[in-house]
Amino acid sequence: MDDDIKYCRVLDAVTKDARELPVVELLEYMRTFIEHWTNEKLLNAKGTFTYIGKKYNKELEDNKTLSQKMRVRASTDYIHTMIDGVKRFIVCLQNKRCSCGQFQLDELPCPHDLAALRHRNKSYENYCSPYYTRESFLQTYEIPVDPLPDESKWNVPQHIAEEVVMPPTGKLQPARPQKQRYKPYDEANTKKYKLFCSNTEFIYYFSAFPNNTAKIE
Ligand SMILES: [Zn+2]
Repeated sequence: MDDDIKYCRVLDAVTKDARELPVVELLEYMRTFIEHWTNEKLLNAKGTFTYIGKKYNKELEDNKTLSQKMRVRASTDYIHTMIDGVKRFIVCLQNKRCSCGQFQLDELPCPHDLAALRHRNKSYENYCSPYYTRESFLQTYEIPVDPLPDESKWNVPQHIAEEVVMPPTGKLQPARPQKQRYKPYDEANTKKYKLFCSNTEFIYYFSAFPNNTAKIE
């Protein structure tokens, strides 16, 4: 979910200036962007040699480290109590749920689930969402975005070429149109940072918050 919001914001940020372009140029800009994006993601998936994608594998490894310090108490073949210092969590391997809520929400094993799996000598693969696998990423990005031939080579049907497109008939409001979204108070008052990504060749704008978190504008 967070990733979806992040990608929407990236898309929103990189198309900000392009929205001023005429329709054909705007569409070509978007097509080029998606072409570059798809190719980059495909190369990333091809360069992954773990069962799940790099980012999720890192999260899993961090969870494995956290799981090392937990004590496991089995109730049945599936239900386990994890004792993590003064806290306790209940994991059900059958329903793929943990009382911390993270396991069923992310569909990626939480530290408590990993401790239970290790106790049972089971592997994590059957407990991850198939969407996290390298195979899924490869399938998602294997369909290329086709390049667009030169405009002189386009085969435009006559009835479309002859069509005259008129401006919209709606009444324009008197003030200048709103171009930026309204920002909540905390977002409007945070310090802004600019970051150039050499891979995508796009500039991203970040807001830094007092708790050391950052988010893409
Ligand atoms: Zn948990």
